[in-house]
Amino acid sequence: MLTTNESSVYDLLGVGIGPSNLSTAALIAPYNQQVNSIFFDDKSEFNWYPGMLFPDATIQVSILKDLVTMVDPTSQFTFLNFLKETGRLYMFASKGQFDGLKRREFVQYFKWAVARMQNLHFMSTVQRIEYKDDCFEVTVNDVSYKAKNLAMGAGLSANVPGFCRKHIGSGMVHSSQFLTSNVDFSGKRIMVVGGGQSGAEVILFLLKEEERLPLSVQWISSNYNFLPLENTPFSNELYTPKYSDYFYNLHKEDKEKLLERQKFTSDGVSEKTLSDIYETIYNYKFLRDIDILDFYPGTYFTNAERTENCFCAEVTLKEKSSAVQYMDVDIIVLATGFNYQQHKCLEPLDGYISTTDGKYDVAEDFSIVTTKDMKGKIYIHNGARHVRGVADPNLSLLAWRSAKIINALMEQKVYNTEIDKSLLSWDKLTIMKNGFRARAI
Ligand SMILES: Cc1cc2nc3c(=O)[nH]c(=O)nc-3n(C[C@H](O)[C@H](O)[C@H](O)COP(=O)(O)OP(=O)(O)OC[C@H]3O[C@@H](n4cnc5c(N)ncnc54)[C@H](O)[C@@H]3O)c2cc1C
Repeated sequence: MLTTNESSVYDLLGVGIGPSNLSTAALIAPYNQQVNSIFFDDKSEFNWYPGMLFPDATIQVSILKDLVTMVDPTSQFTFLNFLKETGRLYMFASKGQFDGLKRREFVQYFKWAVARMQNLHFMSTVQRIEYKDDCFEVTVNDVSYKAKNLAMGAGLSANVPGFCRKHIGSGMVHSSQFLTSNVDFSGKRIMVVGGGQSGAEVILFLLKEEERLPLSVQWISSNYNFLPLENTPFSNELYTPKYSDYFYNLHKEDKEKLLERQKFTSDGVSEKTLSDIYETIYNYKFLRDIDILDFYPGTYFTNAERTENCFCAEVTLKEKSSAVQYMDVDIIVLATGFNYQQHKCLEPLDGYISTTDGKYDVAEDFSIVTTKDMKGKIYIHNGARHVRGVADPNLSLLAWRSAKIINALMEQKVYNTEIDKSLLSWDKLTIMKNGFRARAI
């Protein structure tokens, strides 16, 4: 049983232990003598979206983008060290396949890292955070802790449309709870809403076993087609520290336009998943005479009424002058992604925290901008997409962001965050407004 010290004043207290704060904890570990840190998570143990841990699901980033490697490849917490310590490094190399690592293996790696640290506490809900006597007073499971600085790593919240909220749990499930909800899909009429990677993985799973097929599956997407993830070396350049810094210094309006334009570098479906779905459907249709999947691109899910035995789902077609259509379905899976959230436990600090359009203002070192003087800082993971770009919720910049936070916290450059060159010249041009030509600097 791990113990905590309620009378200490911690240098850093972490809220949430997902990949983001786990990366911070791993990179801070060599400095545990200098920095007294503690992290809390409300889950019973570490896990990474168990409701979406399909046996074949793969990570969508390079294995080098683990908890630490991009800033410290010599750390004991690298994915390669996990492979070595678990006796599979040679076999992993023999596979000769470094892309498409199973998500389940990355979860094993995360859990292995968790087991090597002493300052991570689960079954611990951070309820409220106040600021008293130049310190954060943090209530965790009704016990009070003091901390000079905070690292918020509490993630995003499931996007559930308002008209769906009352139905969640009774025949309607968000994709993040898909496998853990234990709903029996076989022989049922299913509607899957969302044409991104999660929706596609749910579709593949539903079609996997011929003996347990649903009666019918309707796949709804507001996009004009089932679109692929932009995954080229050039789109990966958007997931580098260089681009994050470049984006940070753009005007707000330019940021908003770019986020929309760059959406499919994270929100599309991997080409492999799309091909697997197409092939599976082709085989059912022409080799087994089974025709159960209908695709509805360019379609919005606009309402759902519960009838005695099923849902009457209303969908609105984008083209065809917004024609409305109704479908009777037994189960609805919302693969509708995740939303930005202001964290409830920070509400007592509302008078200190600066926001714009309902989102935290975030400084260059990933601390939340405050409106009144505070001695310590509130660093934030996965809460700066609006100021840092599409990579913010992704695994790509975890280690770099943690390193920047640790440097700021320790007021010294313990990690080199000015890493690597970029092939594209993001920062060589100053974009001039009002018709001036770009000027090289
Ligand atoms: C199914 C899925 C697959 C993904 N795959 C990839 C991928 O392959 N590559 C990639 O780059 N990105 C991927 N992402 C995106 C991104 O990597 C994940 O969203 C990642 O989990 C973000 O990590 P996080 O630590 O910021 O947040 P989270 O993983 O959401 O962790 C937040 C943690 O904080 C806890 N928490 C929240 N509030 C409190 C509180 N008050 N007190 C205590 N604990 C609290 C939560 O229980 C949770 O454990 C994926 C996302 C999903 C949903």
